[in-house]
Parts: sequence; C-alpha cells; structure tokens
Amino acid sequence: MIAAVLHGPEDLRIEDVPEPEGEVLVAVEAATTCGTDVKMWRHGHPVLDSYPCRFGHETAGTRLDTGERVLVSDSVPCGECDPCLASRPQICRSPTWVLGGFAERIAAPVKALHRIPADLPAAAAAVAEPLAAAIHAVSRGSGATDVGVLGGGPMGLMLTALLAGEGRTVTVADLHPERRAQTERFGGCPAHALGAHDLVFEAVGRPETWRAAIQATKPGGTVVLVGGCPGGTSVSLPATPIHYDELDLRGTFHHSPEEIDRALGLLAGGAFDYRSLLSEAISLHDLPAALSSPSGGPARKWLVDPTR
Ligand SMILES: [Zn+2]
Ligand SMILES: [Zn+2]
Repeated sequence: MIAAVLHGPEDLRIEDVPEPEGEVLVAVEAATTCGTDVKMWRHGHPVLDSYPCRFGHETAGTRLDTGERVLVSDSVPCGECDPCLASRPQICRSPTWVLGGFAERIAAPVKALHRIPADLPAAAAAVAEPLAAAIHAVSRGSGATDVGVLGGGPMGLMLTALLAGEGRTVTVADLHPERRAQTERFGGCPAHALGAHDLVFEAVGRPETWRAAIQATKPGGTVVLVGGCPGGTSVSLPATPIHYDELDLRGTFHHSPEEIDRALGLLAGGAFDYRSLLSEAISLHDLPAALSSPSGGPARKWLVDPTR
C-alpha cells in the first residue's frame, strides 16, 4: 500500500510499504493536517518513532473487518496511571499513540476507534480530533463571558466557534487580514490585537504570544495556554500581573476519549462549519508540497484523501 513516510527533517516520501500490523485495519478516507504535522515534518516530534516513520493523527475511514465507519483516535490512555485514575486521561503518562493516517490503511487498537454518526462525512469526522482538543481547552477556562482568543488559525477558530456557541463575546486577534475575515463566520469579532479580557486563550504557541496573552488578561482573569511552544523552550513571563493581579495560568493538552465523542456529536449536529477550515481534497502525493507551503493566508487544514 501507499503511505507517507518521514525519513528525516523535511524529508517526506510517498512510498509503497508493507501493510501495517495491529488489532484492526482501517481504510483511510480522510486525514487532515494541523500545525503539529508541520512541526513533525520539519523537526520530528517526541511521539514519533525513529526515522523512517509514519505520521498523520486526524484520521477517519472504514474498518476492514466490520465495515463500520470510524474516527481513529491518535491515542489510547493506559487507564492505570495517576492522571488516568484521576479522570485526566489527556495527560496519561503512558498512552499508546496511534499515528500513520497519511496512508491508504492504518492499524489501530479497538479502543482508539470511535463510531462516526450516520451521514457525517469522513472529512468532518477527521476534524473531530482537533475539535476535541478545543473542547478540552474550553473546559480548562473559566465561565467568563468576555473572551479573547489570540491567534486565528484553525485552533483559534474552533475555540471561537465553541465559545460563541455558548453565547460568549469572543474577540479574535490575528495579524493576517484573511484570518480576521474568517473570524466572523465562526462568531468572533476580529481585531489586530487583544484589549483586556476576563478570559484569554493563546492559540499560537510562541513565547511572545504567551506573554501577550497574559498582558491582555484583566486582573483576576484566566489565561489558557493552548498553543504549545517547541519542546525544551523556556519562556520568561511578566511577573507583575501574574502575582499582583492574581492571574490563573492554565495549560491545556490533548483531549479525552469522551471529548472526541462530543466533538463527533457537535459535527453531526451541524453546529460547526468544518468545511471552511478544509482545503479541497488532495492526494497523498500532494502532501509533501502542501506541508511545505507557507502558512500565511486563510486558516486552513489540508484534507488528504488517500483513495485519490
Ligand atoms: Zn492535529
Ligand atoms: Zn494513563
């Protein structure tokens, strides 16, 4: 079968490879890209196997054994570590990672599979993975009604849609005019920069935007750091507002299996305009060029259809 194989930083090849091995084989119909894939392509990633390795973690398709349509979750929590026992499976200490969606088929443990609601296209189901992470990030925030989102990429827009859907006022700051224009479709108010808000989500993942998010939070407010800085980064943060204004700084990572099912339900209910976040379907052979294309312009996830 054909798969995208990483051989090293920025060395992605589309190759004929042996069938993957695992509990269940899934024929991939849609695999979407996100910023993490670009990071993996560019620098590698702690959850990847050593080179050569496969990647792609937003994956939907059909089980070869039962014919059931499924979302393949990118991880299965162990269920036994302290965070798992404390009902925080998203920070499981020894999850099983399930990567390799950029391929004709992927092997997955049964526990990674989530049934796709009837009539929900595979492309929409793939988006349930990042949407589940956005659902989790919102759960890490407060109930404040005045919210700022720093970064109008796909994650920022998913956060905006969820928060606006709860009736909150959401200001979205992004430097790209195309992304500011997209904001309103997701229920946000576009801005060049954030003012002062009771609750701020940072959805960029850079030291300077972590600082900017803190500086845009009102006294007593909450900052949720959604965007991950590259591993090993040390960030210096403004001490004065954190201390004297009693800001709550909260990290957020990943999602729980239940949050994936909630995301699938939201998508099936039509509450979220996933189409405007996706490119036209591309083939596996188009993926290397897609990942290396500049990320300016509208917020967009590449939609890979390995059957093309
Ligand atoms: Zn992702
Ligand atoms: Zn665990």
